[in-house]
Amino acid sequence: MDAMKKVPVREQEPKVRAANFQEVCYGYNEEEAVAEAARCLNCKNAKCTGGCPVSIDIPAFVQEVKGHNFEEAAKIIAKSSALPAVCGRVCPQESQCEGQCIRGIKGEPVSIGKLERFVADWARENGFVPEVTADKNGKKVAVIGSGPAGLTCAGDLAKLGYEVTIFEALHEPGGVLTYGIPEFRLPKQGVVQPEIDNVRKLGVKIETNVVIGKAVTIDELMDDEGYQAVFIGSGAGLPKFMGIPGENANGVFSANEYLTRSNLMKAFRDDYDTPIVAGKKVAVVGGGNVAMDAARTALRLGAEVHIVYRRSEKELPARAEEVHHAKEEGIIFNLLTNPVEINTDDKGWVSGLTVRKMELGEPDASGRRRPVEIEGSDFTIEADTVIMALGTSPNPLISSTTEGLETNRHQCIVADEANGKTSREGVFAGGDAVTGAATVILAMEAGRAGARGIHEYLSAK
Ligand SMILES: Cc1cc2nc3c(=O)[nH]c(=O)nc-3n(C[C@H](O)[C@H](O)[C@H](O)COP(=O)(O)OP(=O)(O)OC[C@H]3O[C@@H](n4cnc5c(N)ncnc54)[C@H](O)[C@@H]3O)c2cc1C
Ligand code: SF4
Repeated sequence: MDAMKKVPVREQEPKVRAANFQEVCYGYNEEEAVAEAARCLNCKNAKCTGGCPVSIDIPAFVQEVKGHNFEEAAKIIAKSSALPAVCGRVCPQESQCEGQCIRGIKGEPVSIGKLERFVADWARENGFVPEVTADKNGKKVAVIGSGPAGLTCAGDLAKLGYEVTIFEALHEPGGVLTYGIPEFRLPKQGVVQPEIDNVRKLGVKIETNVVIGKAVTIDELMDDEGYQAVFIGSGAGLPKFMGIPGENANGVFSANEYLTRSNLMKAFRDDYDTPIVAGKKVAVVGGGNVAMDAARTALRLGAEVHIVYRRSEKELPARAEEVHHAKEEGIIFNLLTNPVEINTDDKGWVSGLTVRKMELGEPDASGRRRPVEIEGSDFTIEADTVIMALGTSPNPLISSTTEGLETNRHQCIVADEANGKTSREGVFAGGDAVTGAATVILAMEAGRAGARGIHEYLSAK
């Protein structure tokens, strides 16, 4: 074995997986995990933990894996993360813990994400349940939204003895983990639900089908229902569109709607009565993880799929692993290409996409080189379905029904990063609702900060 290289991870063959919704990556088995853990240098000045937003003691858990002490490894991770099987699968480790790993200076970094996933899967398969420690303190806290921010905040508060209820608008908890990220990257029954169940086992109640701001307001929760503090973890679920002609045609979806129909409404399964218009030629506009997920879902539903992205491959915001998988599966990348119009037939259905070639100019405010149109370069991509994956912003429902809750010009709730405090006393917030669309682990970090803020606030009362 070459100690400079990661132990390779087994995956489904690209041609086979392009036609099914089973998980792409099989993860490490025990032997592979121990071999990979043995690559860790157990550095005195380990940089990996500093790269983890929830500060998992990475060297400690990796050493336990090396020694075959998987339960100990699970206990170490559980101190910092309530969703390790999720994070092991979807965190951008390459730019976080693995990006800092000292082993990575001369060779490939330790495969920390795959080791975390191995430990979490081992713990679930072997019935390991995190310990509940505190006695109940009789104080009630409401958490809005059951995504990673809400689940983490609720779990941390329950461990401190609070009586926590999560209110979730949808009929299943989990936020984007359940309705957004597809089954082939993050299995729902096998991986997401058991981690949500672990949060329930800490004593957290989850009430689904409750839209805060419609069914009940934050003021009513606090004034009439006895909640002494509220954490808003309602995410950023409002899709953006381009505002180009034809965007209202039949066959144009936001990626959020498309993925929700597939994941939450199980449109990909024949035994469900909630199908989706599958499309034979699908164009997905955007280059982030959401675009890759929508494209790979459409591919699995039987379509030829084009990604249309206005910058070059180097600027693609999706994780390198997702782009690699998408290419292997046969997604066609139309880079430096920008839609100018969605074409329709005489019945108002999508018939294609007029696009314009772009070239890269000077860097813009994001630091990436600005795409500049090449005049006279328009051409048409044939398509019967267009999926817009251009980003999302927070839904204004909660801010518009909560007086005195400050938001910024992007509709994001203004909250203190250190403790989640908002402009309303007793109301805290974190995750995508505050930052706009970001990542699972950053939402978890914000949930943790919110729990700390609420504990400080209620302890002082
Ligand atoms: C398709 C897709 C793929 C992604 N892939 C990755 C990835 O690979 N890696 C990664 O790290 N991140 C990824 N992300 C981003 C990541 O999932 C989010 O940043 C993260 O889920 C945000 O967590 P959150 O708890 O703030 O919000 P969410 O996960 O959005 O959860 C918010 C919850 O609040 C509920 N809610 C909203 N309004 C109300 C209301 N008024 N009342 C009650 N409930 C309400 C929503 O229904 C939802 O369940 C992806 C996102 C998408 C959409
Ligand atoms: S930086 Fe890398 S090699 Fe060093 S302790 Fe962390 S995981 Fe191990």
